[in-house]
Amino acid sequence: MENFERFPLTIYNSLSRKKEAFTPINAPFVGLYVCGPTVYSEVHIGNMRSFITFDVLFRYLSHLGYKVRYVRNLTDVGHMLDDDGEDRVLKRARLEKLEPMEVVQKYSNYFHDVCKQFNLLPPSIEPTATAHIIEQIQMAQKILDQGMAYVSNGSVYFDVEAFDKKHGYGALSGRKIDELQSNSRKLDGQDEKRSPLDFALWKNAGPEHIMRWPSPWGEGFPGWHLECSVMSTKYLGETFDIHGGGMDLKFPHHECEVAQNVASSGEAPVRYWMHANMLTMNGTKMSKSLGNAISIEELINGGKFSRAFSEMSIRFFLLQAHYSSTVDISESAIEAAEKGFERLQQAWKALINMERSSGEANMELDAATKKLLDQVYVELSNDLNTPKAIAVLFDLANTVNSIKNQQIPGSSLTEETLSRLKLEFPKILEDILGLKLSSEAKSDHLDGVLELMLRMRNQARADRNFALADQIRDQLKDAGVELKDGKNGTEYELN
Ligand code: ZN
Repeated sequence: MENFERFPLTIYNSLSRKKEAFTPINAPFVGLYVCGPTVYSEVHIGNMRSFITFDVLFRYLSHLGYKVRYVRNLTDVGHMLDDDGEDRVLKRARLEKLEPMEVVQKYSNYFHDVCKQFNLLPPSIEPTATAHIIEQIQMAQKILDQGMAYVSNGSVYFDVEAFDKKHGYGALSGRKIDELQSNSRKLDGQDEKRSPLDFALWKNAGPEHIMRWPSPWGEGFPGWHLECSVMSTKYLGETFDIHGGGMDLKFPHHECEVAQNVASSGEAPVRYWMHANMLTMNGTKMSKSLGNAISIEELINGGKFSRAFSEMSIRFFLLQAHYSSTVDISESAIEAAEKGFERLQQAWKALINMERSSGEANMELDAATKKLLDQVYVELSNDLNTPKAIAVLFDLANTVNSIKNQQIPGSSLTEETLSRLKLEFPKILEDILGLKLSSEAKSDHLDGVLELMLRMRNQARADRNFALADQIRDQLKDAGVELKDGKNGTEYELN
């Protein structure tokens, strides 16, 4: 029985606005698409919240036994304008005196470094917009052929009104086209668009635009929303399982994605839409344009708060909130999370070397412990409820720490439950939540492994299996660990 049958997953679907049982189109295969970063500047901690959320989803789906194809793109070109109307990549290139592609490479590398720091697994495919220009031109053409786009002055615009008449626009965000129209600014007559709601599928490139490609409509570059419509369906199929992204992308980006896919293929592209909520600071959304974004360096090396924090403390802090709620970041909140994570790490470390002592088990505690282990997966399967899963881990850590501190007997749990705890507790923290032991804890971890090797060697010697004993000594030496047999037993030295 696969884990996904034992612990069936439910997901809050932004499209239906309710929690639904997750049933993939073609189980055990799952297609997951997440909007990646725009690589014209450093990602900040607010951006990372969404990527960490979907990293945990990817890890958990895999843990449940699904075969996940996880596609997360890099937006390296697109019609993205700054507040002053300048193209973001070009502006950065001008400010830093770099080629646009140099800007893109620099911040792609930066993003990958940060992902490693925060222990994110790489996606299965990481497509870029610039590598899919032909497909974007093809999709724009298809939408034109369907009569839901028009060419204006070398640009192609999506005709929101025409689409709305045929398919209905606004299903994902719940916005109504007439409300949107009355709220949007009037066209000033200079505009190429027929309606302010229309958005660019393809933009005519002005002479200053270095990133440009030939198209049936003249030289230009794709609109921002088009790349995700193209790359998600290219790799995951015309309709796929899950599309994720930050809450701020729901409208207009994701609404436009849906419209483009439906206009070109007639099919709704996504079964389950998931949105990670915002990170706030003093209650205000963190964003670069508001000037309140906290950089990764400020957190890790210090500068924002009175001290620095480790990546894992910050990751833990973010996971202590449900992805669908906003989280307010503050020094005291991260500090509290750090303390909590430390408690879990103590139990994690203690479990490595914990052995059951002889004596009677406390069957009530034993049954409760088994139930709590299952409860972790139940919580995670309930729309990825990481805060509740972590709360259960704290309960389990209490039992482990009580055994370690000899507040309760070392025989309290049965051999079976202790083994399960030793196997699953670290697995949940490391493989599912993506947390790592601190380096100090890690050297303890190595000590644990070496102790085990020494015990195996001693056993081999006691069994007069000197060939095996020598082999263990020689291979440890090759790995940089020298064993020294003395009157106090065997000691080791790391070279
Ligand atoms: Zn996207």
